[in-house]
Amino acid sequence: MRRFFTGLLAAGLMMTLAGCGSGETAAPAGGTLYAMDTVMNFAYYNTDGGDADTAYTQTTQEIERLEQLLSRTRSDSEISQLNGAGGAPTIVDGEVAAIIADALTYSTATDGAFDITIAPVVTAWGFTTDHQQVPEQSELDRLLKSVDYRRVSVDGDTVTLGAGQSIDLGGIAKGYASDRVKAILEKNGITSAMASLGGNVYVRGSKPDGSAWRVAVQDPKNTAAYAGVLSLTDSFAVTSGGYQRYFTQDGKTYHHIIDPATGAPAESGLTSVTIISPDNGTMCDAFSTALFVMGEKKAIDFWRTGGYNFEMVLITADGRVLVSEGAAKHFEQEKGSGYAYETIPRTAP
Ligand code: AMP
Ligand code: MG
Repeated sequence: MRRFFTGLLAAGLMMTLAGCGSGETAAPAGGTLYAMDTVMNFAYYNTDGGDADTAYTQTTQEIERLEQLLSRTRSDSEISQLNGAGGAPTIVDGEVAAIIADALTYSTATDGAFDITIAPVVTAWGFTTDHQQVPEQSELDRLLKSVDYRRVSVDGDTVTLGAGQSIDLGGIAKGYASDRVKAILEKNGITSAMASLGGNVYVRGSKPDGSAWRVAVQDPKNTAAYAGVLSLTDSFAVTSGGYQRYFTQDGKTYHHIIDPATGAPAESGLTSVTIISPDNGTMCDAFSTALFVMGEKKAIDFWRTGGYNFEMVLITADGRVLVSEGAAKHFEQEKGSGYAYETIPRTAP
């Protein structure tokens, strides 16, 4: 299984690191972490006197704490306790309850395209282990009966799952972690920083030289290449792609983003979805997963009329890169990529 590819490459980080020691800018605090089942990169600068080393130490501790709290493969996590409660009301950490409540909000907003009760189906495909397999349709049909976010309730710190349900926060946890990274950077007075949490990027301020951070959108056909580059300041940018985690059986590829309507990897005609927003990494993460499931038409309708503040880049299996009007101002096409580029207007033509 390919586990280590992220949807977004922080091109800015790579350029910055390559220049370490030779330019005017001091080396950043940061480094590479393997956590939450992915590779993470961080580069924090002391430009305005902020304490970048402290911010990075706090970041690594916070990510370890969140992994412990939110993982469903760690038997001692709060989520494992909730999943093992057999539908009994369970008191969880207030933070966990709030994340689950947020997840339910995004499920409602996306009409169930994002649904954390997909957990038993994800398990059947083996995506929580190193042994993936194609489940029998009869098994999927049986498991799908317990997939329904409307049967989860959150009342203060008490969470109750429906009978047979379990939850998987894998579609939202890294986005939440990126929100926490933003808070840590704020608290420590860091005004120039880049954090890449396996496809979930947060850039703070601009690069130390004053230019925007450059965040590359990977080409799903060739993950060593880009389909384009976003120039961003103070933004979250989160990609979901079928190429990020998958396995192949009998010549067919199966990826990790499941359509809750079918129980199978979503075949929506999209190969990657990047969501960009200035204010909410958790939302970006939920919507990148959801819009991947929705497909082009529903995703565009949702962007136009869903009432949420975000921009997006969609890549289609038939070779188009669709860039929403607000993102187009920040997007640079990759010449020679073979894609046809289109801007999606804010109002339907
Ligand atoms: P992401 O990489 O953010 O798109 O999230 C994919 C991960 O979220 C998968 O590895 C599963 O753990 C989980 N997941 C898969 N399909 C869904 C879905 N439709 N709604 C919510 N979570 C999902
Ligand atoms: Mg996601």
